[in-house]
Amino acid sequence: LLYNEVQDLKGTIRVYCRVRPFLQGTKDMQSTVDYIGENGNIMIVNPLKQEKNARKIFAFNKVFGQNVSQEQIYADTQPVIRSVLDGFNVCIFAYGQTGSGKTYTMSGPDLMTETTWGVNYRALRDLFQLSNERTHVVTYEIGVQMIEIYNEQVRDLLVSDGSSRRLDIRNNSQINGLNVPDASLVPVSSTQDVLDLMRIGQKNRAVGATALNERSSRSHSVFTVHVQGKELASDSILRGCLHLVDLAGSERVEKSEAVGERLKEAQHINKSLSALGDVIAALAQKSSHVPYRNSKLTQVLQDSLGGQAKTLMFVHINPEVNAVGETISTLKFAQRVA
Ligand code: ADP
Ligand code: MG
Repeated sequence: LLYNEVQDLKGTIRVYCRVRPFLQGTKDMQSTVDYIGENGNIMIVNPLKQEKNARKIFAFNKVFGQNVSQEQIYADTQPVIRSVLDGFNVCIFAYGQTGSGKTYTMSGPDLMTETTWGVNYRALRDLFQLSNERTHVVTYEIGVQMIEIYNEQVRDLLVSDGSSRRLDIRNNSQINGLNVPDASLVPVSSTQDVLDLMRIGQKNRAVGATALNERSSRSHSVFTVHVQGKELASDSILRGCLHLVDLAGSERVEKSEAVGERLKEAQHINKSLSALGDVIAALAQKSSHVPYRNSKLTQVLQDSLGGQAKTLMFVHINPEVNAVGETISTLKFAQRVA
C-alpha cells in the first residue's frame, strides 16, 4: 500500500457541511448560521422561533463556511481519492436542497474556469497525475461511466445519440464496482477527455427536462471512475472505483402542490434518499443488516458502501432565512449518518 495515511479511514464515513454564500442580489442577508466551531460544530438560529427554542447545534467532521474555496474543499478529500489507485472503493455524495450548492461542489459553476473546478475534475486530474508518477511500478487504465437515476430508472448519460434506454443493475458482476455493466464505459487519459464527456453527459441530462421541470434537481447523477492497475513486478491486478454522486434535491414538496408526475418524482426522491440514509446509518452503527435493496441508488453503489470502502458526504446548506426549515432537516439527516 502506497498511501498509509489513509489506512485509518478504511470503512469509515465522513460528513462535511458546506455553507453556500449569499447570491448576488439577495435582499435579506440575514444568515441562519449563528456560528461555526473549529471542531466541526455548526449552530443554526431560526429567527422565526422564540429565543429560547431558536438555536440548534450539529456536529460533523468539519464545517466549511461561505468563503471556503474549491481548492480547500478538495484538500481534505484528496487522500481518500488517491486511495482508489491502491484498490479501494470510494463514494462521495453531495446532499442538500435544490440551490444549496451541490453541483457547485461536484462540478463547479462552469467547465471553463480551472480555479473553480469542482471535486470531479480535481479528482480526475489527481488520479492521472499520480498514475503517471507510478508508471515504473504499476500501469493504470482509467475509464468512466456516467448514469442518471430518475424515478427509480437507470439511464446512460454517455450515449452519443441521447437514447434513453433503461439499464439493469447487476450486483453479481465479476468486476468490483461495475454494477451497471451496460452503461458506456469510456477510457480516459486526460482532463480534456473528462471535460468532453462531461459536456455529453450534461447535454443528455437536459434532454428529458421540460422548461418547468429542471431534471437535474430531480435525479441523481452518478459519475463513476473505474481504475485498473497492473503491477509490473508481479503482474497482479488491482481494481478500485470512485463514485461521485450529485444527489437529487432533498427538499420536501408541499402536499398540496405535488400532483401527477411531480408527486411521483417526489416520492421516488424521498424513498431513495431515505434508503441511502438508512444504509449509511446502518454502516455507521456497524449493524449486521444493511438494507441495500431498498433503492436503485444503493444497489448501484452496493459494493462501494461498507466493508473496506470509504464514504464521504458533503451536506450543503443555504443560509437564507426562508430556507431554515430545509436547513434543519438537511442537518438532521446528516447528523444521523455522521
Ligand atoms: P444545487 O446543485 O444544489 O441545486 P448549485 O450548485 O446549482 O445548487 O448552486 C446554486 C447557485 O449558487 C448557483 O448559481 C451556484 O453557482 C451558486 N453557488 C453555490 N455554491 C457556491 C459557492 N460555494 N460559491 C459561490 N457560488 C455558489
Ligand atoms: Mg444541481
